[in-house]
Amino acid sequence: MATSSAHITSEFSNPNLEILISEQQIRDRIKELGAQITTDYAGRNPLFIGVLKGACFFLSDLMRAVDTRVSVEFMAISSYGSSTRTSGEVRIMKDLDVPIEGRDILVVEDIVDTGLTLSYLLANLQSRGAASVKLAALLDKYERREREVKIDYLGFQIPDEFVVGYGLDFAERYRNLPFIAVLKNPNS
Ligand code: 5GP
Repeated sequence: MATSSAHITSEFSNPNLEILISEQQIRDRIKELGAQITTDYAGRNPLFIGVLKGACFFLSDLMRAVDTRVSVEFMAISSYGSSTRTSGEVRIMKDLDVPIEGRDILVVEDIVDTGLTLSYLLANLQSRGAASVKLAALLDKYERREREVKIDYLGFQIPDEFVVGYGLDFAERYRNLPFIAVLKNPNS
């Protein structure tokens, strides 16, 4: 049977994507962050909390770059409707399975944009009696910040553009790109 590749379209070389941060740059930066976290948490047992779904790729690569004892949990959160958006209130869709009292927490997130989601989440975790709560974020869209959020371990600062790839989606698409790209025309 004859095979045709005419209908096969490459997602990775989609012309609608403009690479902002390459696979190699991500790899190199995560190695540096991992070394820093290894030093900072030496002799402790931090609990990494990954925020679903976007942070999964960053979390799994970051964990493997950290050479100390670590544990991992996941949370899923979603913002309320646009009317309550500015209050920064978020809905916890999947909560932790373990108590975190006395634990050293490292929240791992894909991107900090307005900061509303993270400021709520960090305060929520701190109120549960964690010994410490720190944040690792791959991307920081600092121009759009509405709430101050301290990013303890940052991958990259980026301009105010909508980005996809390496876990970040547009309508559940593009999470599997190995790089971060600007989506030039989301609706095409
Ligand atoms: P914040 O509460 O900081 O405004 O929102 C953070 C969340 O908004 C991120 O976890 C992510 O889900 C989403 N987000 C913000 N900017 C982008 C972006 O450029 N691309 C994608 N795919 N999601 C984004």
